[in-house]
Amino acid sequence: MTLKARIAEWIATEGPMPLDRFMAICLTDPRDGYYTTRLPLGLDGDFITAPEVSQMFGELIGLWLAEEWIGLGRPDPFVLAEFGPGRGTLMADALRATRGIAGFHAAARLWLVEVSPRLKEMQRQALQTFGLDIGWAGTPAGLPDGPLLGVGNEFFDALPIRQFEFDGKAFRERAIGLDANGELVFGLGPVPHDLALNGARPAAGDIVELCLAALDVMAGLATRIAGQGGGFLVLDYGYARPGFGDTFQAVARHRPVDPLALPGEADLTAHVDFSTLAACARTCGATVHGPVTQGEFLLGLGLVERAGRLGAGKDRKSQDAIVAAVERLAGEKEMGRLFKVMAVTGAIGGIDPAPAGFDRS
Ligand code: SAH
Repeated sequence: MTLKARIAEWIATEGPMPLDRFMAICLTDPRDGYYTTRLPLGLDGDFITAPEVSQMFGELIGLWLAEEWIGLGRPDPFVLAEFGPGRGTLMADALRATRGIAGFHAAARLWLVEVSPRLKEMQRQALQTFGLDIGWAGTPAGLPDGPLLGVGNEFFDALPIRQFEFDGKAFRERAIGLDANGELVFGLGPVPHDLALNGARPAAGDIVELCLAALDVMAGLATRIAGQGGGFLVLDYGYARPGFGDTFQAVARHRPVDPLALPGEADLTAHVDFSTLAACARTCGATVHGPVTQGEFLLGLGLVERAGRLGAGKDRKSQDAIVAAVERLAGEKEMGRLFKVMAVTGAIGGIDPAPAGFDRS
C-alpha cells in the first residue's frame, strides 16, 4: 500500500488529519517517509543546501564553533553536535578546518541527530577519516550532558507545523481530508481557536503557523546551554518577525510541487519563525544573538577572505566557481537574505559576549 493510500485510510477512519501529523508521516514514516527512504540532497536529489554549495560554509562554521569553545575556556570533554547533518558535508568541512586548533578534536564528543538510516550511513562514511567516535541520537533529547557546541542547517524547517486560518470570525485549524474522489484536500476544522496575536489584526484567509516541535527542541537546547554552557547556531530560511502567511511548501527534483500530491516523495518544509524560537530560548534562560541574514553572518566571518585564499593559485575556471559560490551563499537574491542565522549561548564571561558574525558593536 502506498503512503498516500495509508494516509487516506487513516483519514477515512479517524477524520481529517492535522497538518503536523501529515508532515511528520510524509517526512519520517519508517517505511515510506521522505527522509527515511530517499537521498534528498545534491544535484541528483531534490534540493541543494549551503554546505553542498561550497566547502567554505562548513569551514567557517567549524571555526565559529572552535572560537566559542575557546571562549568557554576549552571544556574537555564537550558535546559537538549537529542536528540533521544530511550527507555529513558540513561537519566534514568543519572538522577539516579545525584540525589545527589544539585540543579541539581531542575534547569533542561528536553527536549527530538524525532520523534517516540511509543518511546516517553517509554521515559515517563522510566523517570516518577524522578518527572520532560518533554517536547518533534520534532526537536532541538523546544527547549526553555537558557543554554543547553545535549547529543545525536546514533542520528546523523540516519539523512539522500546524496552520490556523482566519475565517472572518475565528481561527480554524487546517487539516487534510478526502474529496468525493478520495483525493487528499485541505479543509478547516470545526473548532474555533482564539489565538493570541500580540495586537495583529487578521483578515479572512490569513494563516498563522505554529511549530510545536521546533519549540520543544529549542526549549531543551536552550535549557541545557543555559545550565551547562555552550553555543548553538541555527541556520535556516525563515522570517525574523511574526506574521501571517502560508509557508508550507513541497519540492521535488528542484521544483515546487503540490504538497498533497506525492506523500513521501517530496520534501516538505515551512519557514522558520525565528522570533518565536528566540523568545522560547530566552524564556529558558539562554542568550540569543540575531537573527542576522546569512549574508551578513558569512561576510562577518570572513567569507570573502576565505574565498580569496581558496582561489589563490587556481585556474580561472576554479576561481569563477568560488566567486559563484560566494554569490550563492551570501548574495541578496540567493541564499544571503532569505536565510537567517541565530545563535543561542549561555552566560559567557569577558567584555565581548557577542559571538563572531553577530553585531559586536
Ligand atoms: N543539514 C544538511 C541537511 C538538511 S536536510 C544540509 O544542510 O545539507 C534535513 C536533515 O534533517 C536531514 O538529515 C534529515 O534526515 C534530518 N531530519 C529531518 N527531520 C528530522 C527529525 N524530525 N529528526 C531528526 N532528523 C531529522
